[in-house]
This record gives sequence, structure tokens and C-alpha cells, in this order.
Amino acid sequence: MAGEPQADCLFCKIVAGDVPATIVRETETTVAFRDINPQAPTHVLVIPKEHHRDAATLAAEAPQAAADVLREAREVAVHDGVEATGYRVVFNTGSGAGQTVFHAHAHVLGGRGLNWPPG
Ligand code: C5P
Repeated sequence: MAGEPQADCLFCKIVAGDVPATIVRETETTVAFRDINPQAPTHVLVIPKEHHRDAATLAAEAPQAAADVLREAREVAVHDGVEATGYRVVFNTGSGAGQTVFHAHAHVLGGRGLNWPPG
């Protein structure tokens, strides 16, 4: 069923506490944790606790959870003190766009200048 935890999903394991992560914030519906391979001084992943394979699927199947992820992206930026200077929220969607973990997640990047277009 949509949203159910998947046994082979790394981020479902982080939600369950079975894989360690450096948690920044947690709400009833989301978890935010530091990326293990940070690309900027602030690089935090915000995930819904429910399993959805990517952001588009999340928005279609659980729009409230998608909104919760976006709200949390801002809270992370405030938490890390990068809101005022600007930050980027990225949803890689599909392997061609660089998605490697198929549990929807927002990358929150900040704390340095960010070029456009991204690579
Ligand atoms: O958008 P993409 O699917 O490539 O992002 C997955 C992210 O998950 C990567 O930035 C990777 O460094 C991160 N990751 C993590 N902790 C893990 C495994 C992957 O933060 N245990």
C-alpha cells in the first residue's frame, strides 16, 4: 500500500532507527538528517516518514506530507542559520537526474555560494 515502509529501503531504516543518522529535526511526519556526503556546509535531507519513491509520487499520493517536507526544509534552513543568506531545496527525481535513494527526500543546501544552473 502507498506509504508503507519497505524492508529494503535505507531511509525507511533511518526512520525506524535501524540505521544511524545525525538527526537535525523530527516531526510527526518527517525526519531531517545530515547527508553523509555533504556538498555544502549545510546539507540536510528532509524525508517523509512514509515511503514514497520520489517527490512527484509523494505529491500525488500524500500531498500533506509533501507540504510538511517543504515546511521542514525552511525550518532546517532557520536551524542552520542559512535562511537569510539563501539556500537551495533540491528533489532529484529519477536516476537520470541523480536520484540514488528511492525514498522521497529534499536536499537542503546552504552556507556557501550556489551556482546556477546546477551540474
Ligand atoms: O538525490 P539522491 O538520491 O542522490 O540523494 C541521496 C543522498 O543520500 C546522497 O546525497 C547521499 O550522500 C545520502 N545518503 C545519506 N546517508 C546514507 C546514504 C546516502 O545521507 N546512509
